Amino acid sequence: MEKLQQLYEGKAKKVFATDDPELLIVDYKDDATAFNGLKKGTIAGKGVINNQMSNRLMAYLEKQGIPTHFVKELSDRETLVKKVSIVPLEVIVRNIAAGSFSKHYGVEEGVVFDQPTIEFSYKNDALGDPLLNTYHALALKLATPEEIKTIEDYSFRINDALKAFWLTCGVTLVDFKLEFGRLSDGTIVLADEISPDTSRLWDSKTHEKLDKDRFRRDLGGVEEAYAEIMKRLEAHLK
Ligand code: ADP
Ligand code: UDP
Repeated sequence: MEKLQQLYEGKAKKVFATDDPELLIVDYKDDATAFNGLKKGTIAGKGVINNQMSNRLMAYLEKQGIPTHFVKELSDRETLVKKVSIVPLEVIVRNIAAGSFSKHYGVEEGVVFDQPTIEFSYKNDALGDPLLNTYHALALKLATPEEIKTIEDYSFRINDALKAFWLTCGVTLVDFKLEFGRLSDGTIVLADEISPDTSRLWDSKTHEKLDKDRFRRDLGGVEEAYAEIMKRLEAHLK
């Protein structure tokens, strides 16, 4: 499968057409951004790690009955995926208070919830990805009620599966962001990526951050953290 014209260049990936209208190639970059693009940098080797990690996790989720866009890893940084029309919602699942949740609600980072939470942001860079509830999503016609139900159901099942997997690696899954899309027949599938860019992953014992917060918060050891989390995944996901 060959890359044809570039359709899109985002903050972390480039997207290319292929000779099959139902398939795309995504190419993962080392570019890193935070705070809606305000902070920019590079994390050497990140593209390779995010590509491989996302693919392995999606293959694992497929085995658990979650449909995803993943088709085939083509190279270190490139993957063939099913083309979807992205549902413009960023779905965030949380097990532990951190980041914007801690800030908005005045809860110390690290407080463990009795049950996971889910929230949606409107995927719209110009508006700064504002938080919205399902009534807002319906009013804006971003998805149908059935699609929202499916997305919520998949998101909690993905959380259960990923939480259990990361635990075997000695890693606590704090929170993560998902994107879903529609195939040409309307089927909802998990799309985009699952990586340390889009998840908070803490060492279970020391609570050391092994994710993009090291970049966001200038904690140092960014490349080392990405390498460490990938090493743990490789040791536990055959
Ligand atoms: P951003 O757009 O936030 O800067 P990226 O750099 O990760 O993000 O760009 C990848 C883009 O491709 C995102 O807009 C994402 O929604 C979109 N995308 C991810 N998976 C698919 C897919 N299977 N089909 C179509 N678009 C996708
Ligand atoms: N997240 C993401 N993309 C975004 C916003 C958040 O991947 O545009 C991920 C982030 O990495 C974290 C989770 O979603 O794992 C929750 O992020 P939060 O709302 O706490 O936002 P932040 O602290 O990044 O402002």
